[in-house]
Amino acid sequence: MIAPPSGRGHSARMHTYDVLVIGGGAAGLSAALVLSRARRTVLVVDGGAPRNAPAAHMHGFLSRDGMPPAELLAAGRAEVTGYGATITAGTVSQLFPCGPAGFQALLDNGHRVKARKVLVTTGLRDELPEVPGLAERWAKDVLHCPYCHGWEVRDQQLAVLWNGPESVRYAQIVRQWTRDLVLFVPESTLTAAERSQLVVRAIGIIEGCVERVVVEGGKLTAIAMADGRTVPRQALFVPPRFVPNHALLADVGCDLDEHGWVVTGPNGATSLPGLWVAGNVANPRAQVITAAGEGSAAAIAINTDLVEDDVSTAVLHFDSEDVRAGSA
Ligand SMILES: Cc1cc2nc3c(=O)[nH]c(=O)nc-3n(C[C@H](O)[C@H](O)[C@H](O)COP(=O)(O)OP(=O)(O)OC[C@H]3O[C@@H](n4cnc5c(N)ncnc54)[C@H](O)[C@@H]3O)c2cc1C
Repeated sequence: MIAPPSGRGHSARMHTYDVLVIGGGAAGLSAALVLSRARRTVLVVDGGAPRNAPAAHMHGFLSRDGMPPAELLAAGRAEVTGYGATITAGTVSQLFPCGPAGFQALLDNGHRVKARKVLVTTGLRDELPEVPGLAERWAKDVLHCPYCHGWEVRDQQLAVLWNGPESVRYAQIVRQWTRDLVLFVPESTLTAAERSQLVVRAIGIIEGCVERVVVEGGKLTAIAMADGRTVPRQALFVPPRFVPNHALLADVGCDLDEHGWVVTGPNGATSLPGLWVAGNVANPRAQVITAAGEGSAAAIAINTDLVEDDVSTAVLHFDSEDVRAGSA
């Protein structure tokens, strides 16, 4: 665990927020809204790189379906600041637990802040397979989430790119959106059972090495194979590897599970008292609406924790006043 920076006299002048929210995507802003409406002092520090930024539209968020992702966040920021919270651009580079006093955080601009509680909502990053041309089409016609974008490419010539054993089940899900689906898979990879499950659902199997994504007229048109075959396709689904942005949590010693994801209790509580998480940083399956919901639930739990601290402090203060009055 890292010791907090000392800086003589500096920390005494630092303002202490009730809650520091690290990350201002759907999870962080939703939490900040609930907390600022609960009359808590809230600072949101946001790196400004939400995961779905490359997508033109956001889907599956009730009442906001089709809205550009940046518009949702702009509306959220206006609501949050309207209730008195502060949002600052930047990143938190280090977090220092300070026992019952809460936490100190160091920002990339050198500023330090103090907070009684911290909520980390820093999201995750998608690691894509290294196929030439693939990353450039990400969120356009190289997609990962059929629930987010399947409707927009329904009934088209679709493909799934093998990226590990989960890819067969993933292809079966993508099949829901089209009858014309193929799975690109390295040779001698599929089991007999997987092969027959694909065949009975009319999912084509193309074995071999994918060489590149073919783009013509600004659109994905085909997948080129190393053996010279070119398979016409209009969109390619790729299951990425999800990597949580949780260095801050690991550095302060939060428990991680066997897959390296932070262990959470009810409402996103971590193993470190006073530190919570919400959204993709701990839950790779969270959609925007789920991340917002988790942020809201964590905010209510954090406020409850703060109220409990306030009660303890008030009782302690009252008792010592009593003692003083009695001895006078
Ligand atoms: C291409 C694409 C399209 C998608 N489309 C949809 C869709 O249509 N519908 C849907 O429901 N979901 C969609 N998703 C999923 C969606 O992006 C996530 O559900 C959502 O972004 C999770 O919100 P979050 O708040 O947990 O994280 P994010 O939105 O990723 O926000 C995390 C924030 O934390 C900031 N941050 C990171 N580290 C730090 C730090 N150290 N200090 C300060 N700030 C930091 C980041 O800059 C970022 O602003 C899509 C995902 C992708 C990749």
